[in-house]
Amino acid sequence: MKETPRHLLDLDQFSLIERLTEAGLERFRVDQILGWVYRRRARSFDEMTNLSKTLRLQLAERFDLYTSEIERRQTSTDGTFKLLLRWPDGATSECVMIPQDTRRAVCVSTQVGCPVGCAFCASGLDGLERSLTSGEIVEQAMQTYLQLPEDQPLTHVVFMGIGEPLANYDATVSAVRTLNADWGLNIGARRITISTVGLPRQIRRLAEEGLQVGLAISLHAPNDELRREIIPWAERTSIDDLVEAGRHYFDRTGREVTLEYVLLGELNDRPAHAKQLAAVARGMRCNVNLIRYNGVSDLPYRRPGSEATHAFLEVLRKAGVNAHIRASRGMDIEAACGQLRRQRGDL
Ligand code: SF4
Repeated sequence: MKETPRHLLDLDQFSLIERLTEAGLERFRVDQILGWVYRRRARSFDEMTNLSKTLRLQLAERFDLYTSEIERRQTSTDGTFKLLLRWPDGATSECVMIPQDTRRAVCVSTQVGCPVGCAFCASGLDGLERSLTSGEIVEQAMQTYLQLPEDQPLTHVVFMGIGEPLANYDATVSAVRTLNADWGLNIGARRITISTVGLPRQIRRLAEEGLQVGLAISLHAPNDELRREIIPWAERTSIDDLVEAGRHYFDRTGREVTLEYVLLGELNDRPAHAKQLAAVARGMRCNVNLIRYNGVSDLPYRRPGSEATHAFLEVLRKAGVNAHIRASRGMDIEAACGQLRRQRGDL
């Protein structure tokens, strides 16, 4: 019986060695294959010219290298571009490349749709369709990387697209390992960031993985009451629990946590909110990233004015908090934070 092809990007070095050496292949051939995939960016087995034609055919019968089709590419006036990928089951994912000076960061999704349903976010409007596999997460980084000129390496990966990475824990951690491994994309763990709405148990688990990835907690409100109004999953936890988990993460990894705070005009952007946020931030080693809300049609939230934004920042800084305003990139192609949408069949 013919074996169903497996997504090669789903496999780590160990599993690939196991499968191929069992089939009689020498170990160095596995290194060659991985070199072709991640360093030389081969798009098909056919391009792996130092492998025999028979072996290339056997590999193509046994594995799929890429499984998605690029359905659309949109490029912003600021150089950011967004890819819409369609998977074989018809589900779609969006991933975004954000170039800045020598930095080229890809933002990947971890789920199709999002189960969290934050009130202000386009990505969670229709709930969760399914989680992505590790290979599908890696494939987003690779498909984006393939779009870059040969002399431009991918330098950073942020897990800030659609979905809650820690609700798809195993696939997320496995993808991080492939992105980080020297046999994989070889991107330093310090250049990989996982952004979570804040699941304390999973944050503690991540702290024990021996990875030094950055952790960003999407706080978005400085007290539990307001947080629960805009983030349904905040009902499951409290800001105090998140601060505890953030402290644990720092203790175990030495990585300062980032608190993400989306400023929603006249909802959470008052000086009193900034004071409360400063008190939260002082509870752990962290920095605060302020994001001015990027408008989403159909949702009633507003982007705050620049005066209110700077006043908020000043309150934080005066309280001794390391805080910054994050520039919004790719707004004209709806690629900025919270603007990614789950695309359905009616494109
Ligand atoms: S902000 Fe993040 S966690 Fe919240 S609905 Fe959007 S994608 Fe999901």
